[in-house]
Amino acid sequence: MCQAVRYELEGEPEWVWQCYCRDCQLATGTGHTTIAGFHKDRVTVSGPIANYTTTGDTGGRVSRHFCPTCASRLFTTGDLPGPLTIFQSGTLDDPNSVTPTAAIYVKDKLAWDYIDPALPQFPGMEDRY
Ligand SMILES: [Zn+2]
Ligand SMILES: [Zn+2]
Repeated sequence: MCQAVRYELEGEPEWVWQCYCRDCQLATGTGHTTIAGFHKDRVTVSGPIANYTTTGDTGGRVSRHFCPTCASRLFTTGDLPGPLTIFQSGTLDDPNSVTPTAAIYVKDKLAWDYIDPALPQFPGMEDRY
């Protein structure tokens, strides 16, 4: 939001998902979040970044990075099953440049939230990498 942190992302994301998990709800204050996974070798990030690390439901570390000035949630790294940096798609300069192709962690979906019926749905993220 404050532009202190900038990204350069080369090429297309490996995937773009709507994530309805409880941790995304807590981290963003929303019903779900839209995330785009980029191979870390195609990612350049500049600017001051803070992070908060938790243990994910598969037991690995999950670090959520945010801007220490404006508190925008930026991206996630950690013991992910793949060398990925996972961006909050709303923070891209052009958020319309990516489109979700699946809904994950629908087991945690809030009663009032909506899932595009065109998207395949998965209870967690198993087999989605
Ligand atoms: Zn999530
Ligand atoms: Zn900021």
